[in-house]
Amino acid sequence: MNIHEYQGKILFKEAGVKVQNGIHCKTVNDALNAYDLLGSKVVAVKSQIHAGGRGKGTLYDIETNELVMEGGVKIAFSREDVEEYAKNIIGRKLVTKQTGVNGKIVNNLYIEAGCSIEHEYYLALLVDREKKSILIMASTEGGMDIEEVAEKTPEAIHKIWAHPVDGLNEKDALEMADNLNLEGNSKQDLVSMLDSLSRMFVEKDCSMIEINPLVRSDSGEMIALDAKVSFDDNASFRHPWREEMRDHSEEEEVETRAHDHGLSYVKLDGNIGCLVNGAGLAMASMDVIKLYGGEPANFLDIGGGATRESITTAFGIILEDDNVEGILVNIFGGIIQCDMVARSVIEASNELGLKVPLVVRFSGTNHVEGKEVLDNCDLDVHTASTLAEGAEKIVNLTRSVE
Ligand code: ADP
Ligand code: MG
Repeated sequence: MNIHEYQGKILFKEAGVKVQNGIHCKTVNDALNAYDLLGSKVVAVKSQIHAGGRGKGTLYDIETNELVMEGGVKIAFSREDVEEYAKNIIGRKLVTKQTGVNGKIVNNLYIEAGCSIEHEYYLALLVDREKKSILIMASTEGGMDIEEVAEKTPEAIHKIWAHPVDGLNEKDALEMADNLNLEGNSKQDLVSMLDSLSRMFVEKDCSMIEINPLVRSDSGEMIALDAKVSFDDNASFRHPWREEMRDHSEEEEVETRAHDHGLSYVKLDGNIGCLVNGAGLAMASMDVIKLYGGEPANFLDIGGGATRESITTAFGIILEDDNVEGILVNIFGGIIQCDMVARSVIEASNELGLKVPLVVRFSGTNHVEGKEVLDNCDLDVHTASTLAEGAEKIVNLTRSVE
């Protein structure tokens, strides 16, 4: 789950990370009031979308597709500037390197006190699965094109690790500050910021925090001027407050639907739809499909507590995907009963129309009953007793369709 910059900065502030004062707005009027309230002559007028590269993006009119303004992050030097920029941003389509050609409609704006920047740095925290730690990466080459830095001068990116339980070692934080050539209060600021961010990363169950740019101001303060925060969805049950931060308009409709039914769904480029229970089994199913020369159309984990309704939704999501030329259902019955899955699959197929081959592999609780239900239905369902057999069948069946 992703959140907006202004929401990320609320969390930063709570965690003790320095940010500029700012106000979230929805309308041009809001923006003008925010300008008056902030009391800063210079402010940044910032488009809020779930994608980076806003500064170098382009705004278009959503009806005429005409170019409205270059740059989705603007520095305003007066109230008039704020009005002009807010008008050019709200309700427009912002196209950036990360949005794809269709862009994203800007429904939210952030008015932030202007910052006098001495230098722009890059800072990010990520999960390092191999080291079972939080990887902290930073570079003096911050600003807008960090991907290029990573590619051309990887040595300019410095790394330290924070232990998820023991936290960050001060020695490592000081070493990072030295690598970024920070001194005096800037050095202290960075050390305390790294500590706050690693705590926040664990407490809020983040999967990524990216600050680009992290800046050194003219008074030597280290300030997070951008905020990209993503959460680990598997931990959402521990953080009910996340629901309020969710912006449905930023999410794909089908992903929202999947999420609302407790499904983990990721669309992929292949043609074989997969409906599986358990993330591990879903990964294994995708691997075995690939082993037989097929390409999965999605990752879909219906979870352990799937109901008839959620399975029908899941099956519907797969059927709606035009790229799907065959479906593999691979269920290991534990709490979930295979015959219930069979009935749900039949129900969804009857309702939505099944036009592609379907292979079902059941194992575990009520698999015999499940197979019976499928054998006695009118649908053209192929059954398999192992994953390998199921994957091979669906790959061959989709091939013969071509
Ligand atoms: P994006 O990464 O999506 O382009 P940023 O938040 O990084 O958006 O903003 C782009 C650039 O705008 C930053 O690199 C910084 O130079 C400038 N900027 C952003 N916020 C402010 C601010 N409050 N004051 C001054 N400059 C800012
Ligand atoms: Mg940025």
